Formats: sequence, C-alpha cells, structure tokens
Amino acid sequence: MKYISTRDKSTAVSAAEAISRGLSREGGLFLPDSIPALTGEDIGKIAALPYRERAELIMGRFLEDYSPDELREFCARAYGDNFDCPECAPTVRLGGGTHVLELWHGPTSAFKDMALQMLPYLLTAAMKKTGETKKVCILVATSGDTGKAALEGFRDVENTKIMVFYPSDGVSDVQKLQMQSQEGENVGVVAITGNFDDAQSAVKAIFSDEALREELAAKGWFLSSANSINWGRLLPQIVYYASSYADLVASGEIKNGEKIDFCVPTGNFGDILAGYFAKLMGLPVGKLICASNANNVLTDFINTGVYDRNRSFYTTISPSMDILISSNLERLLYLLSGDDKLVARLMTELKESGKYSAPADLMESLRASFAAEYLDDAETKEVIGRVWREKGYLMDTHTAVAYGALEKYRRENPHRTAVVLSTASPFKFTPAVLEAIGERGDGAGVELIDRLSAATGKAAPKNLAALKTKKARFTKIVEKTELLGEVKSFLR
Ligand SMILES: *Cc1c(COP(=O)(O)O)cnc(C)c1O
Repeated sequence: MKYISTRDKSTAVSAAEAISRGLSREGGLFLPDSIPALTGEDIGKIAALPYRERAELIMGRFLEDYSPDELREFCARAYGDNFDCPECAPTVRLGGGTHVLELWHGPTSAFKDMALQMLPYLLTAAMKKTGETKKVCILVATSGDTGKAALEGFRDVENTKIMVFYPSDGVSDVQKLQMQSQEGENVGVVAITGNFDDAQSAVKAIFSDEALREELAAKGWFLSSANSINWGRLLPQIVYYASSYADLVASGEIKNGEKIDFCVPTGNFGDILAGYFAKLMGLPVGKLICASNANNVLTDFINTGVYDRNRSFYTTISPSMDILISSNLERLLYLLSGDDKLVARLMTELKESGKYSAPADLMESLRASFAAEYLDDAETKEVIGRVWREKGYLMDTHTAVAYGALEKYRRENPHRTAVVLSTASPFKFTPAVLEAIGERGDGAGVELIDRLSAATGKAAPKNLAALKTKKARFTKIVEKTELLGEVKSFLR
C-alpha cells in the first residue's frame, strides 16, 4: 500500500513517510491508494478483544511498513491505564435507539487523546524507518483540545520538541489553563491574537516555506504536524467506529451487518472522515451526519455544493468547532472524485477567493453517505438541559450539538440505530453546561468544575480536578505575523 497526495496522485510514499512528513510538498494531504477490508467476521472477532487489540488489527491493515510486534507495543502503551476506564471508548445507551460513544476518557479528557496518545509512537518509529536523523519539531495550531492532547502525547518524548499556538480568545478557561500549565522540558505554548483559522493558516504557511525548511534542516531540525492533516492522526480514529459497532453487536443492540448512523460534532472534518474510512472498509454505516454550530460552513456545503468561508466568524460555546476552513474535507473530495487536478483547483480557489463550488456528481455521491445539520448556542444548551433532566446523562456542548443534529436529521429521515460521538468531558466547558442545567455559570472556568460536580453529583475527571492547583507557565501572546519568529527562537 502506497500513500498518494490529494493534489498529485503520482506521489507514492510509504505509510512511514506519509506520517513523518505530515503534509505533501505541494500542499496536498496523504491518503492510502487502496482501502483494506473490514468484514462482518472481523467485527465478530474484535467484539471479544480489548480496545488496544482492536486498534492493532485495524491500524495494522494500513501500516504495512510497521511490524506486528511494533504495533502491539504501541497500542498497548497508547491504550492502557493512561485512560480512566478499561474500555477506553465506551458506548453508552441512552434509549430510543440512540447511543453515545464517549471518546474523552484519555489523559486530557478530549477525544483528541484517542489519536494523540498513539501519534508519538507512530511518528518516532516513522522517523527511524525513513532514515531521518534530524530531531522533530511538532507545530500545532489548536482550537483548544488538540493543543493540550498533543502536548501531553509528546511531552518529554526523546528527540522531539512541540510548540502549540492557540487563539487567545478562542478557547475555554479550562482549556487555556490546561495548556498554560503544561509540564515537560520540550514544550512551548503561545497564544495568538486572531481566531483558529488564523493560527492554522499561519502554521500551514510555515510548513510550505521551503527556505525555512532548509534553514532548520541545516540546524538538525525537521518540522512535522500533529494536526489532523497528519495521516497518523486520522488512522487511530477509524478504530473507534468499528469498536463501537462491535460493542453494539456484542450487547445485542444491533445485528452484525445492520446499518447504523453516526452523528459527529465536526470542525476540521477529521473525526467524521475517519468514520467514512470505516464505511469504505465495509463497516455497515448508513449516514454520517455532520453536526456544526453557528459556524455552519459545512452544513451549507453539504446541502448546496458551495463552500464559502466568506462569512461572519462566531465564537460559540462549542469552540473546538469554531472553524471555517475544514482541512480534511480535501481528503473527502479526493476520495469521492479520484481527481487530483480537480482537488488542486478547488483548493487554489479556496485559498484565493475563500470559495469554491463542487461538481454536481461529486455532491451526489457525497450526499449518499453524508447529511448535515447545525445548532446555535441556545439550541445546544436546550439539548444539554433536556437530556440531563430526562435521561440523567450530562453532555458537553460539542456532544450536545451532535445530539441535537441527530434529532433534527431524524425529523426528515428514517430512524436507524445511531451513535452520537461524544468528544469532550462536560467538565471542560463548565460555564455553558452549568447554565444549560439551570445553575449559575459565572466565575472562572476552573472553579466551576467543583460547582458542576456539586450540582450533578458527577465526579470530574482527575486531570481536570487537579487544575485548581496548577500555575500558568506559558502566558505569551503574539500577532499571527510573529509565528515564524517564535518557532525560530524556540529552536535556537
Ligand atoms: C476537535 C474537536 C472536534 C472536531 O473534530 P474534527 O476532527 O476537527 O472535526 C469536536 N469536538 C471536540 C471537543 C474537539 O476537541
């Protein structure tokens, strides 16, 4: 299996090369040139396995240049007691054919841990496999959760440094303190004035700066990414779709082979794209419902075929989805069209005019697998409050967007068993969650953790409860034009 670029399909690299490079030279994203199968028999088999072995089986099919022994070790370390429950990603039954897949039992209470506890192993092995002797510097643009999860995944990993940029006003108090208080000798955290797209564009520009690449190479540094543009980020996420499905089969909720829907709170389109990969492999997936907040650029795209980022940007109570440029959509455009020239052209249009229009036949095949709905903040809070009152289940703002999107989808479409992906602990977004359940949400986010515990009788994840005693280490704020300088001085 080779990996090709979405903007140049003549590129053919190994999995290790795709993971160590992150982004292809001409700006495209890596994709496998064929899709391995996942059969009903496989599903029956993984139902009896612990999460780490499920990951081993599924990821192994895409990583021909990694040995089974290597993968076994990586999966055992990535999905072990760093998670706060043995299932790692449990599926919780809410009734009415609706289930919640909890992806936040890792060390930072965000679904990003599912991939970022694994990526450092994949990446450091990839460096060795490709004969790369330089040290790696990971650069991350984050809308909140990726930054902390990447810092935690890469902290004190040998021969690496990691630098994270986050929008100064675009993350929650808890997320901010999680990053500012990060421990480790090889880490850097800087806030930038601007929104997530500004941070992401500036980091992307650094990656495609050939002169900088050479300058850093001469000093023994190699730049890489932990954003979901990296295949090593996306791949581990395919696992939990199959894992959740296998759990539903094992508990008798569905028959093996029965189609189910997944509803995914979406930002950069990485999580939901992993679901599409699971479907392409053969997992019986009906629709993948793309759930957005008021930044509903994807809802409009899926419903109209026009992607237009020229619109107001809203800061919402689900900040990890406050994104107007969803990088991984590019991979979907390629998977649906197989046309690298088309993808390259659309991405150039997006860069130059902020807008593109996808061909009608492409949109038709897209809609065969995807649907889209969005919720504003008021609707999101209403969902949190109602589900808490009626079912005693407490969800965070992102999960609530997806739950509400599924409800909207079901009004117009056949009702199938569905899994809502839950991407963060409710204790990460305390002000909004407290208000949604009728409590006071004022005060500093970190103190509100105790208030939410008291109001609901639910314990906060340990890592979040411990934040109260943590001091901020990184408090610098810069303009987006200053990112390059920050990177250079970090590596000096
Ligand atoms: C990152 C994130 C998302 C969005 O996931 P994408 O893969 O970027 O679409 C949703 N919810 C939370 C809590 C996140 O951290």
